[in-house]
Amino acid sequence: MENLCLLCPRKCSVDRSKTRGYCNQGSLKIARAALHKWEEPIISGSKGSGTIFFSGCNLKCAYCQNFEVSRGKGKDMTSSSLADLFKKLEDLQAHNINLVTPTHFADDIIKACEIYKPKIPIVYNCGGYESLGTLEKLKDLVDIFIPDFKYSDNALATKYSNCKDYFQVCTNALIKMRQLRPIDIIENGIMKKGLIIRHLVLPNATENTKGVLDWIANNMPKDTYISLMGQYVPVCDAYKFPEINRKLKPLEYKIATQYALKLGLDNTFVQSLDSATEDFIPDFDETSLIL
Ligand code: SF4
Repeated sequence: MENLCLLCPRKCSVDRSKTRGYCNQGSLKIARAALHKWEEPIISGSKGSGTIFFSGCNLKCAYCQNFEVSRGKGKDMTSSSLADLFKKLEDLQAHNINLVTPTHFADDIIKACEIYKPKIPIVYNCGGYESLGTLEKLKDLVDIFIPDFKYSDNALATKYSNCKDYFQVCTNALIKMRQLRPIDIIENGIMKKGLIIRHLVLPNATENTKGVLDWIANNMPKDTYISLMGQYVPVCDAYKFPEINRKLKPLEYKIATQYALKLGLDNTFVQSLDSATEDFIPDFDETSLIL
């Protein structure tokens, strides 16, 4: 019987062993696994987060900050070798296993956890375009959800991420994630369970950001952790859209951070705009591929 892929809201319904859906991925492929020190402080801690970057993506945003990997760069792996990566990252004293853009490999991740369940928290670090059924499958496995909430404006979602229902799908996923992890547990400054909502502020899009923050303030507990990122750099296909073909202006980021403050969203992480450089994009060359 064919195994048709319905892992994400694209609902491509294709047999990925024979053909490709929107994410353009077949079997498990990974671009990088390493300790990463530039996540939020409650995720990176002092020793680093054990990040595993999966190849491909179900969004493929025009301005993707990790475009090499979202467009498919990586190495073929198995669930068993993924389980080995969990062990290696644990041995390196990682604070957590941080699965970056994992959605389209959710079934492989579940299999890897059946082979070896890490003793440290598992982080599901995704683009926010998630199906409720896949989140349900992951409910006993994932400790921390870190979804993006990219757009309140579906016109921007359509233009930059080919996704006309992003806002509705993402907000339903956020509600589900909050239900699955209703309490944030922080021990010694490190998150053990919970939810962090990330939003990358885009150039010329402060109204989009305000819509994102308004929704969070109206629908989530006020102490929800938010990561308001100002690190945008124009890469990938951003040059095709003149309005986003530049870095963020300090004033745009200030408007975003002050709006979060005004809404009482006090657990908001902010960034120095010095991080808006390609130096902070992880290296995906062949030598840094896998531990
Ligand atoms: S995971 Fe990939 S193939 Fe499956 S529904 Fe999503 S985009 Fe389509």
